[in-house]
Amino acid sequence: MKKLIAGNWKMNGSLAANQTLVQAMLDGLQGVEPMAEMVLCAPSPYLAQLQALLAGSPIAWGSQDVSAQESGAFTGEISAMMLKDFACRYAIVGHSERRQYHAETDATVAAKAQRALAAGVTPIVCVGETLTERESGQTEAVVKRQLAAVIHAVTHCTSEIVVAYEPVWAIGTGKTATPEMAQAVHAVLRKQIAAATQHPERVKILYGGSMNAANAASLLAQPDIDGGLIGGASLKAADFLQIVASAQ
Ligand code: PEP
Repeated sequence: MKKLIAGNWKMNGSLAANQTLVQAMLDGLQGVEPMAEMVLCAPSPYLAQLQALLAGSPIAWGSQDVSAQESGAFTGEISAMMLKDFACRYAIVGHSERRQYHAETDATVAAKAQRALAAGVTPIVCVGETLTERESGQTEAVVKRQLAAVIHAVTHCTSEIVVAYEPVWAIGTGKTATPEMAQAVHAVLRKQIAAATQHPERVKILYGGSMNAANAASLLAQPDIDGGLIGGASLKAADFLQIVASAQ
């Protein structure tokens, strides 16, 4: 199974900057058989731009969130069906920045994952512990609780789901989990998925948290790390492509 390298641009970009960045990525992929599947998750106003720029390329596009509601009076929300209209293949749900700044609960994240799946959009479900939780020995319990909420909601699902283990203390901080630390948590998640889902082989588990061109190879070499969710380094074409090339 090919690994998946997902870029999360967060609230960055402009029409001009996106065009330059995507063009540099596509130029870098010319004549190359990519080592991994790729997706770029852009702020919603730019999804149509990504759809146009990436059509027919090996890079998929996705959103950074999706509404837990189907449609109606939910000002500012973006539904899974709207994402599907733009041929979005993926939607990140439960990113720690949304859990932290928008008070998203495990139940909200599970509802969002369900909406995405129902519309044919693959959710990238983020789980991860804070520094305090790690230091008090709660890492395993936290990620298992976060994942259980989603697994419970999608238990009969036969579609692809992606899980991203993102220790909160490693996101955007330059502090990466060591490959051994990440692998240990991925093994726990893998076991939980194997016990609870009908098709564990369809679930990829990505690592996210300051993954970059220099540390990607050692993280991606771990047996239970099926790819990466990349924030900062996905804003630089050369770094993103170097991470993709590291995914042997
Ligand atoms: C992220 O935003 O999901 C992320 C992993 O960010 P960074 O790579 O910048 O730590």
